[in-house]
Amino acid sequence: MALNIILLGPPGAGKGTQAARLQAMRRMVQLSTGDMLREAVAAGTPVGLQAKAIMERGELVSDAIVSALIGERLDAAADKGAIFDGFPRTGHQAEALEILLGQRGRQLDHVIELVVDEDELVKRITGRFTCAKCGTGYHETFRPTKVPGVCDVCASTEFKRRPDDNEQTVRTRMAEYRAKTEPILPIYRARGLVRSIDGMAAMDDVAAEIAAVLDETAR
Ligand SMILES: [Zn+2]
Repeated sequence: MALNIILLGPPGAGKGTQAARLQAMRRMVQLSTGDMLREAVAAGTPVGLQAKAIMERGELVSDAIVSALIGERLDAAADKGAIFDGFPRTGHQAEALEILLGQRGRQLDHVIELVVDEDELVKRITGRFTCAKCGTGYHETFRPTKVPGVCDVCASTEFKRRPDDNEQTVRTRMAEYRAKTEPILPIYRARGLVRSIDGMAAMDDVAAEIAAVLDETAR
């Protein structure tokens, strides 16, 4: 049976990496609200056109539109499991998700929370840099170049950093996550659906823990 899970964690917790693995290894699709909105707008679907007009007015896209988009995606991948990312964010949206799933004879199986340590996350993100020539990724602490200031792959001495990989941005995003997303956790905790995983562990270990949770559900 197709599993339906919510993947929760702040930006930088590795949600994208883990979702990509689940999509590749299991019959699952990632339903990321942000990506879905951008794609629907680009594709010019009826919901996309509606969303575009709203965003152009600088307003937030309503729950009804987001729900319609998710419904479209669930129908398009009816035989696959779903990984919800960025939705639900409020109790109201959590109820909307129940309805969307219920209408399709599906149910929410797990809410997987990637727990991060804020200071550690800051260190992880702000230490990232890439070779400006070949694009190889490095990290000041976790994956430094063999020779300081020289790319291991192409010997270039030019490197670049993403402008939003700075402490202030990371802390702002973390605060947003705490304020906007974490409040839905108690709803799911009360239902026994939340599984908390150490998001600061190595990527393979995090993947193994998620796999173990999903494998428990023999349906
Ligand atoms: Zn290079």
